[in-house]
Amino acid sequence: MSESSPILVFGHLCPDTDSVISALAAAELLNGRGIPAEAAMPGPLTPESAFVLRRFSLPCPPRVDSAAGRRVALVDFSNAGQGPADLREADIAAVFDHHRCDGDIASRAPELWLAPVACCATLLAGLFRFYDVVLPPGLAGGMLCAILSDTSLFKSSAATPQDLRAAEDLARRAGVADIAALGADLLTAKADISGCTMRELVLRDFKDFTMNGRIVGVGQLEMPDITPVEPLKGGLLAACAELAAEGRHSVMLAVTDLGREGSLILAASPRPDLFELAFGRPLHGGEAWIAGMISRKSDMVRPLRKAFESLGRNPD
Ligand code: MG
Ligand code: MG
Ligand code: MG
Repeated sequence: MSESSPILVFGHLCPDTDSVISALAAAELLNGRGIPAEAAMPGPLTPESAFVLRRFSLPCPPRVDSAAGRRVALVDFSNAGQGPADLREADIAAVFDHHRCDGDIASRAPELWLAPVACCATLLAGLFRFYDVVLPPGLAGGMLCAILSDTSLFKSSAATPQDLRAAEDLARRAGVADIAALGADLLTAKADISGCTMRELVLRDFKDFTMNGRIVGVGQLEMPDITPVEPLKGGLLAACAELAAEGRHSVMLAVTDLGREGSLILAASPRPDLFELAFGRPLHGGEAWIAGMISRKSDMVRPLRKAFESLGRNPD
């Protein structure tokens, strides 16, 4: 394991805007502290992230699919299952995250930054101040977008006052006068579903979670209005079933309507009753509308995990 090659900084598989931008930000922060680092990403760029890089003239991190033998820093995740398959063969030098930590990775470095905020970029913005490292305006703009994306334009129940304050400060640094207008452009880019296969749409913003020993995949598509998705429901549900057949217990896609502030869920599962238990609505033909469901972390994963825990250890 070479101490001299730069630390490779990357976020989770199916990288979202926070994973891409926080990799750039953490690499900038580490370099500013005199620790050589370079950003990477373990998956393709989403239309939303492509928009953000273009809008603020930021470089696109190169693809990385293997971490074995490298010194790495993780951003926006801290669970082995959400990173490259050989992550356990890497030397984890630092972790910057805002999610629950399952403790299935180990690091010999004492640099673990975890905070209960809605976006990793919020945490990193604070660390630029902590380490007195200059934050370039373009990067500030990207970090602002990461916060707008992770908080669903502050509609998410996961959003904290720290996210809001960081966004206002980053907007000033980036010279963004109208945060709401930027948020609207971001959402338009995020909602672009043209030219995608059903599988690509389910996987666009997708994570695997271990719930009581079962792997449950949860994808999310956010749109200002989900009407264009209505005719695709059958195909999306079939793609969920296909992904479930690849070693997962269940797969759910939440198509979130930010106008109506709720989500249409599509679930492929041998236990639809667990989804009813979690969300208080029965599934009909694998689907249900759940009012108020916006945040994956708070409104989807937390109740679903509780429902799976009620299963006990019995296989099913
Ligand atoms: Mg993320
Ligand atoms: Mg995040
Ligand atoms: Mg997200």
